[in-house]
Amino acid sequence: MEILYSSTRAKENPVKASEAILKGLSEDGGLFVPDRIPALDKSLAEFSQMTYKQTAYEVMKLYFTDFTEQELKDCIAKAYDEKFDTEEIAPLTEADGAFYLELFHGATIAFKDMALSILPHLLTTAAAKNHVRNEIVILTATSGDTGKAALAGFADVEGTRIIVFYPKSGVSPIQEKQMITQKGKNTYVVGIQGNFDDAQTGVKQIFGDRQLAEYMDGKGFQFSSANSINIGRLIPQIVYYVYAYGRLLREGHIKEGEKINVTVPTGNFGNILAAYYAKQMGLPINRLVCASNENKVLFDFFRSGIYDKNREFVLTTSPSMDILISSNLERLIYQIAGNNPDKNRELMKALAEGGLYHITEEMRKKLSDFYGNYASEDETAKTIHDLYKKTGYVIDTHTAVAACVYGKYREETQDDTLTVIASTASPYKFTRSVVNAVSQESYDEMEDFELVDKLCEISGVHVPKAIEEIRTAPVLHQRICEKDEMKQTVMEILGI
Ligand SMILES: *Cc1c(COP(=O)(O)O)cnc(C)c1O
Repeated sequence: MEILYSSTRAKENPVKASEAILKGLSEDGGLFVPDRIPALDKSLAEFSQMTYKQTAYEVMKLYFTDFTEQELKDCIAKAYDEKFDTEEIAPLTEADGAFYLELFHGATIAFKDMALSILPHLLTTAAAKNHVRNEIVILTATSGDTGKAALAGFADVEGTRIIVFYPKSGVSPIQEKQMITQKGKNTYVVGIQGNFDDAQTGVKQIFGDRQLAEYMDGKGFQFSSANSINIGRLIPQIVYYVYAYGRLLREGHIKEGEKINVTVPTGNFGNILAAYYAKQMGLPINRLVCASNENKVLFDFFRSGIYDKNREFVLTTSPSMDILISSNLERLIYQIAGNNPDKNRELMKALAEGGLYHITEEMRKKLSDFYGNYASEDETAKTIHDLYKKTGYVIDTHTAVAACVYGKYREETQDDTLTVIASTASPYKFTRSVVNAVSQESYDEMEDFELVDKLCEISGVHVPKAIEEIRTAPVLHQRICEKDEMKQTVMEILGI
């Protein structure tokens, strides 16, 4: 049966999956949600025999109902190929009684590769289905990770160009090197003289410029975004939870139908929402443990029913979770409001105007699937250190936040259900913090690449290809612009 997508802020005019992917965000500012959550139509035993790609097809076909079987299989084949350093795509590693689902084996060694490897193919397929003839121009502002993952995903994808703006002095040396060495004849990387907010504001202004859009259309171009609220990023994230369950079953760690817990280090609430969708599709999941760092808006929300972003923004060693507005939470709010766009719109308006909203008692009751907690900076470092000392397994800072919170959950609830922890980045992505935590020394005087060697020595884990390559890769992008020159820069790049 066909699934249509409507906005979390209005019920009118639902669109097909391909249109929702093309649009990204609804015109009323809401997020696209499926009109129902489909049930898995293969047994868990069948899933236990499937490869990652087969699982991906079985999950995505239920949501992207206007794609043909061939179209979806082509997208999946192009996404989950040798860009990943293991055929398993998302391996499970057991350490200290939990199963780490390693989502960092893609091109940029962090979990955003899981969705950004397939989004470009979903997007170009969707464009063809909807008779879009324009070339699609992806514009992204990045504080480091998303930009590189988007560049890697879109590089040399026919019919697209990608332009990434990053704060010239606001990303780590490894992150910058990753971006400015990006190959692909359709990739453009621009450093701006400003901070991440300036880059983001500039991109939003370009997106909102109707005159520019019309002019571009005349020249055969249209903008799109690779934003994490795109349904084409959310749905592919459901896959790895189903896959992980299948692996646990195949390897005899669980019996068919036995429930597992899932712990997710959370920022924008995309990854954990995908796990929640998996649960509603029939995957036996007990609790969803939502782990935050010191920016603990979500922890407070689960405890009090109040979402309040009015607080100091803390810079932590898990920067991809340094977020005060978790945009994907809106999809959960809509659902616990009884799929009610009016109630959701009222709360989002309160958030936009006063930075806070309260949910009703009735809505709170529907949150019992979730448990929220957070890890302080010291606890995060200690978790990396202790796990390494006990097992030799080295995890990154984001994953450590999750591991720490999982420990708190167990202590608080005595629930010993088998648990999968989403491991969202390779320790090599956040080398400095990881080495400092493991060795309990500070290596301030060492360069980032020296630290890579240090980490290799400590952990015995091979330096990932993604890091090895950029040591010697030539710099291919040197464009820099002032923060008020972004629009001109885009036009220059497009030659219009
Ligand atoms: C983006 C990111 C997260 C947070 O994921 P959300 O889907 O935004 O909640 C966690 N860890 C890493 C390494 C990330 O890059």
